Amino acid sequence: MINPKVISRIIANTDIKTKLRLAKVIPKLGKADEITRCMLCPNMCLHVCPVFDAERRLTVSPSVKARLGYFSQDYTYEAVYHCLPCDACKSACPMEISVNDNLRNIRAGFDTEIARKAAERIERDLFKNLRKTETEKREGKILYFPGCRTLENGLFTKTVEVLEKLKIDFAVDDLLCCGMPYYELGLFEKFKSAINEVKRLVSKYEGVVSNCPHCVAIMRESGIRAAHIISILQPVKVGGDLSYHDPCIMARKLDVTQEPRKLLEEMGCAIHEPAFSGKDTHCCGYGGVYKFIAPDYAEVVAKNRRDHFEYEIVTACPSCKTALKAIDFVELIGERL
Ligand code: SF4
Ligand code: SF4
Repeated sequence: MINPKVISRIIANTDIKTKLRLAKVIPKLGKADEITRCMLCPNMCLHVCPVFDAERRLTVSPSVKARLGYFSQDYTYEAVYHCLPCDACKSACPMEISVNDNLRNIRAGFDTEIARKAAERIERDLFKNLRKTETEKREGKILYFPGCRTLENGLFTKTVEVLEKLKIDFAVDDLLCCGMPYYELGLFEKFKSAINEVKRLVSKYEGVVSNCPHCVAIMRESGIRAAHIISILQPVKVGGDLSYHDPCIMARKLDVTQEPRKLLEEMGCAIHEPAFSGKDTHCCGYGGVYKFIAPDYAEVVAKNRRDHFEYEIVTACPSCKTALKAIDFVELIGERL
């Protein structure tokens, strides 16, 4: 439904003739699905979309992507894949519409070469290399599930060391991925089989933690009791001037913005907020599968975000760590334990 506050604001500022016209139109608009409402919108979230900011073409702007999605019948336009799952549009949208959530469902309706090729690239360049990475199996009360992005960005071994030093009773399995890339590409059958494997595995434990906010969000959406690893980390003495980059899914989907700042304060750090922080954060460009669809533009998004910082960047996501040349909480704490 359209936010009632927005409706009253619009109605309050119009003359009687327009009020009568709106009275006929708004109920219809309220019944329209999200993609229809989004395609009718004059791109009110354009200013926050990192993909538009990087590519500078209207075709990949939120409401134009929605239009392309709406008109996709037997052909899916490449632009509907040019989207980070960042939900910046949702935070700026008067109707709280998530363009990516809607486009994902559009992508799922088609068996496209774009999705197939991106999946092949991910399986060849990401998953195969990860299989060569050692994942040490062990038993414990809670499952530590690194996810493909943690392994890809070299955070797995450090995390195991930190969890051991914190005396956490944790298990590790050799399952690599929750299926996120398939989910974002709309390859729902492949996603289902990956997440069902995770569900089977997690059922043996008291819960599951991961470094990757995207894994945690997807697991939660799939009914798995998952938490971000930050919830079990302990402060150590660090000090100094730092900035925290809010990973977009951590801030917007998991609603975690205060805990990392509290942890930094407990570690004696002076936090310098960058432009765009908390729920207004700006994506690092490496989220979802955009990096595999449009690698050059993903780099532009990353560079744009890096330019917002003056101090060393701390973050809580393996993809953000690499994109922003940042230090992850696990590394920051691990160095001093
Ligand atoms: S997400 Fe909301 S603000 Fe953005 S184009 Fe769609 S309807 Fe407009
Ligand atoms: S989810 Fe992010 S990248 Fe996609 S349209 Fe919205 S703001 Fe742009």
